Amino acid sequence: MPQTLPRTMTATEILTALVSFPIFGGDANLEIVKWITDYLEGYGVAYQLVYNEDRTKAAIHCRVGPATDGGIILSGHLDVVPVAGQPWNTDPFKLTLIGDKLYGRGSCDMKGFAACCLATLPHMLEQPMTKPVYFAFSFDEEIGCRSGDLLAAAIRDHYPETPAGAIIGEPSMMVPMVGQKGIMVYTTTVTGSQGHSSRIKEEVDAIHEAARLILWLEGKMDRLIAGGRIDDRFTPNHTSIHVGKINGGTAFNIIANQCSFDWDYRNIPMDDADEIFAEFEAYCEERKTVCRKIYPEFDIVHDAMHPPVPPLDTDEDAKIVKLVQRLTGETQTGTVAYAAEAGQFSNAGFPSVICGPGDIAQAHRANEFVAVEQLERCQQMLQKLVAHLS
Ligand SMILES: [Zn+2]
Repeated sequence: MPQTLPRTMTATEILTALVSFPIFGGDANLEIVKWITDYLEGYGVAYQLVYNEDRTKAAIHCRVGPATDGGIILSGHLDVVPVAGQPWNTDPFKLTLIGDKLYGRGSCDMKGFAACCLATLPHMLEQPMTKPVYFAFSFDEEIGCRSGDLLAAAIRDHYPETPAGAIIGEPSMMVPMVGQKGIMVYTTTVTGSQGHSSRIKEEVDAIHEAARLILWLEGKMDRLIAGGRIDDRFTPNHTSIHVGKINGGTAFNIIANQCSFDWDYRNIPMDDADEIFAEFEAYCEERKTVCRKIYPEFDIVHDAMHPPVPPLDTDEDAKIVKLVQRLTGETQTGTVAYAAEAGQFSNAGFPSVICGPGDIAQAHRANEFVAVEQLERCQQMLQKLVAHLS
């Protein structure tokens, strides 16, 4: 550790340092990675970096404790969402205590959890742990959980022992969350022909065709609901399919040769994301066959914004749920409406629970904060985890 860092730092001091890095989803992140790895090195903890392709970003993982089965992964992301256009009352990258709340971008979502993990490190090293803890810090979570799969696989493949589960420290007011919807985001682009609007029956108008596809998507959502695909643990309690942006055409009297639209679906665990997409593609193929008879170059192309983010559906009776309930003293569980990396860790073989400090209602907005009390509760959970593993 550099000489300038104190030997032990409080969670608030660490959070102050982490918040000072304005690293958004998509940005290079090696500066914040260096701060954390310097901190780990200061305590003699060996770590691994998992880079993106051009090595401008890295996720970090490390083991604290012995190489034995049954350890627990503590996972969080280091990127934050932008602040542009938001009316902040304080400098978003200078953690500011007002009353009993700490204000700053990422204080709640979710550098607060990482700060609690790092602040508990000295305690972890002092205790005679018989099972390990793993830190797992990712990048680009905020633009579609782009490194969660990579990081979870790296942990599975790197360590000879098998961790028993993962706690994903997204804001949940320290209540264990056992479910999350999946998400997929696409841009679909329709290429039609062109000409005078009066020739609509001789040409293919991309807007008309895009409209058909959009109504098909809405109809698919309605068919799922009508077919009883309902999960009352979630609000809303069904898979949502939604078009949020559309772009196309030149003028009222010109056949539109292009139209694109952005859409997402957020699937409840019982609905398979790939199946929904495959069915949509089959419908697109039908339309291509029809339209290419009129205009052979007619096309429909889909661009995924990111790989699918899988849903989370951890059994209420799973050991990791019981453990986190015991550690937090919370008897209830819940589900979250936001996307997170928990489904990715779960799919990699680590049963997962979302549980972290702060309220998601404070995330992604101006004057984001985490209550000091929430950071304290998180550190208590981690200390109890260390005792449980000792
Ligand atoms: Zn988050």
